[in-house]
Amino acid sequence: MDLEVWTPTDPPQSSPYPLAAQRANHTRSVVQVGHVAFGGPAPVVIAGPCSVESQAQLMHTAEAVAAAGAHMLRGGAFKPRTSPYAFRGLGAVGLRLLAQAGAHTGLPIVTEVLAPGDVALVAEHADMLQIGARNMHNVALLEAAGRSGKPVLLKRGLAATIEEWLLAAEYVLATGNEQVVLCERGIRTFETATRNTLDLNAVALIKHCSHLPVIVDPSHGTGAWHLVAPLALAGLAAGADGLMIEVHHDPAHAASDGPQSLTHANFARLMQQINQRAVAAPAPARLAQGVGQ
Ligand code: PEP
Ligand code: MN
Repeated sequence: MDLEVWTPTDPPQSSPYPLAAQRANHTRSVVQVGHVAFGGPAPVVIAGPCSVESQAQLMHTAEAVAAAGAHMLRGGAFKPRTSPYAFRGLGAVGLRLLAQAGAHTGLPIVTEVLAPGDVALVAEHADMLQIGARNMHNVALLEAAGRSGKPVLLKRGLAATIEEWLLAAEYVLATGNEQVVLCERGIRTFETATRNTLDLNAVALIKHCSHLPVIVDPSHGTGAWHLVAPLALAGLAAGADGLMIEVHHDPAHAASDGPQSLTHANFARLMQQINQRAVAAPAPARLAQGVGQ
């Protein structure tokens, strides 16, 4: 009797997420956002403030991250806050400021969309739609974002398994939109010393079981600015296709997520480290192994 032999590098024969799953020929998707390519040879760095607070604040940080070598600009206009009394963003005004800052610096924009009804508005101003951790399970939003035809950055839910995350990606892919980038942003564990636990297992595992690009967000993953650089570099060492980094000109007075935001100077230092690393240690290659190894 012939036994089918499964090796760790074989793609799944039948997958719960057939569109997101590793392909038989192991080719990987490249997701293009303007001139930026996720899943290409070089990691993509997205940087910017947690929230868009004002034109001056956004322009100042956009210019600083562009000068330091960031490839895309982030900034929240619609903010999903834990408390309804916290700053919830500038909304449509914030979107216009993002579009201006993007045009000024030449950086494509990614920003979060919170509700299916806002997808058309956000898609008018942004180059890529972010679906946040709190909305990863929002099927209506996943489908609306997919149907917009814009590239989608899909963050992992706070308590989502890797399979649930890939099934959420499957909802976007099933609309016919193939432009999906995954973002590991930390999960909730028993550990309370850090805001979240950045799951780098997930990064290496996604590269094994999916063809989609995956990036790492060490800002939300740790909640502490002084942990951002080491975890950013660790994410790249684990094979991430890019990073999302929160940056603020004055973190002590940020409207949101100041404690995890890098100053302009610290972001420039991180970019130097990333570029040095690219010369010293390329991202891990996929290894072929025999059965049982
Ligand atoms: C953000 O990127 O600012 C954000 C709210 O992220 P998350 O959805 O990962 O909490
Ligand atoms: Mn934030």
